[in-house]
Amino acid sequence: MEETIVAISSPPGEGGVGVIRLSGPQSIPIAQQLFLSTPPLGTRLRYVEYGKVSVGGQEIDTALAWVFRAPRSYTGEDTVEISCHGSTLILELVVNEAIKWGARTAAPGEFTRRAFLHGQLDLLQAEAVVDLIQASSENGLEDAYSLAGGRLSEDVRALKKSLVDSLAKVEVGLDFSEEDIDPIARHHIVGELEKIQRRAQQLVDSFTAGRRRMQGYLIALVGRPNVGKSTLLNALLGEDRAIVTDIPGTTRDLIEGRTTWKGRSIRLVDTAGLRASPDPIEAEGISRAKKIADEADLVLLVVDAMENDVGREVQLCHELSHKQPIVVFNKIDQRSPAENASFFEGRTVVEISALTGVGLEQLKEVALASLPRDHSTGGVVLTRQRHRECLLSMLERTESAVQLLDAGQPDECVAVELQEALNSLGSLLGERVDEDVLDAIFSEFCIGK
Ligand code: GDP
Repeated sequence: MEETIVAISSPPGEGGVGVIRLSGPQSIPIAQQLFLSTPPLGTRLRYVEYGKVSVGGQEIDTALAWVFRAPRSYTGEDTVEISCHGSTLILELVVNEAIKWGARTAAPGEFTRRAFLHGQLDLLQAEAVVDLIQASSENGLEDAYSLAGGRLSEDVRALKKSLVDSLAKVEVGLDFSEEDIDPIARHHIVGELEKIQRRAQQLVDSFTAGRRRMQGYLIALVGRPNVGKSTLLNALLGEDRAIVTDIPGTTRDLIEGRTTWKGRSIRLVDTAGLRASPDPIEAEGISRAKKIADEADLVLLVVDAMENDVGREVQLCHELSHKQPIVVFNKIDQRSPAENASFFEGRTVVEISALTGVGLEQLKEVALASLPRDHSTGGVVLTRQRHRECLLSMLERTESAVQLLDAGQPDECVAVELQEALNSLGSLLGERVDEDVLDAIFSEFCIGK
């Protein structure tokens, strides 16, 4: 018989209420040992019981508890949730008491893993639960919510159905005739497969946008040492994240801070001064800075308004022109960049003082407006490398099926490719997936989920 698991499902929040969850065949009898109510928990259907929590024979709290009977629960098993007052300590005592009565501590993500194993949700939805918990932006949350609700799963199932249809048409030829299917039928199947490829490709293309929405847009601050990048990073984050110092080249490493602007999750990265340097540590920092600037969704090129010679910055702006950097003149509390700004014709130029805060709001607005637009795929986006890989391997197999069909190769070969393409979609949904892949996915969860 399957074991009954227990964990603190949500720790006490501000109101001092926390939830313990038990799942498995013994969860109701175990809960009845530590939650005392009249009538006993589980006797009344769909009823929230009020009762006393008893640990080691001693009453320690009053609580509410409710039962979900299999299969109509999150995990698909009998489940009990007990909502206690009080501290993490009380919740831990209750968990220990449940263990005393035969439960065992749940592994990270085990509730969701059981839900997956009992067919309550597919692997895409299970992964979306992690994303939902970890989402750091409103957009990311929307995406995760839509995935958890099965939007991507629906799309993938639709792709699968079309592939199965095509495979069936190929197999008709295999089963009933000595000859391969006729050219008209082949042509028709190729058309169907190309449709499938287009939709799968759209999903693959949504990966970058989905990732960005989930993890945040990367904005890199670049510029010479001492122009005020660390100060600006701190001002934009509103807290002291980077060490601000006036010794040139002290921001050797990359410093990252996260924030949210108008619901969009932003990752700000302060790079080491972008200049050739004999100092190896600094040189390493600079090469990383260039790499980050390349990866960034947006580059802010910070220029000191007090600087007389901006030749280096103009060159840098040119080097980074594919990123369309925004030129940010800092320290305008000291001097206006008037004539220097004219060297950056055709670029967006913003004047600020990171120290006094002048111009920061305008900078945020310009930056937000310059961020790349999301590629919409009807609200469905890929958020994980695993999804992308499964779809890419499905695309590869489908493409090779198309080529075999076009080249008039035997139906058997086409069928093999289509079967492989289907297998990739099966892995995507978790219909055929190795234990260690599951371990990796569920280890991302915290205990209690
Ligand atoms: P980084 O090397 O580019 O990260 O530059 P820092 O942020 O360390 O700043 C270098 C120096 O410039 C520090 O002494 C800052 O206080 C100063 N600084 C930064 N921003 C401003 C500004 O807007 N106005 C003035 N007057 N000084 C600034």
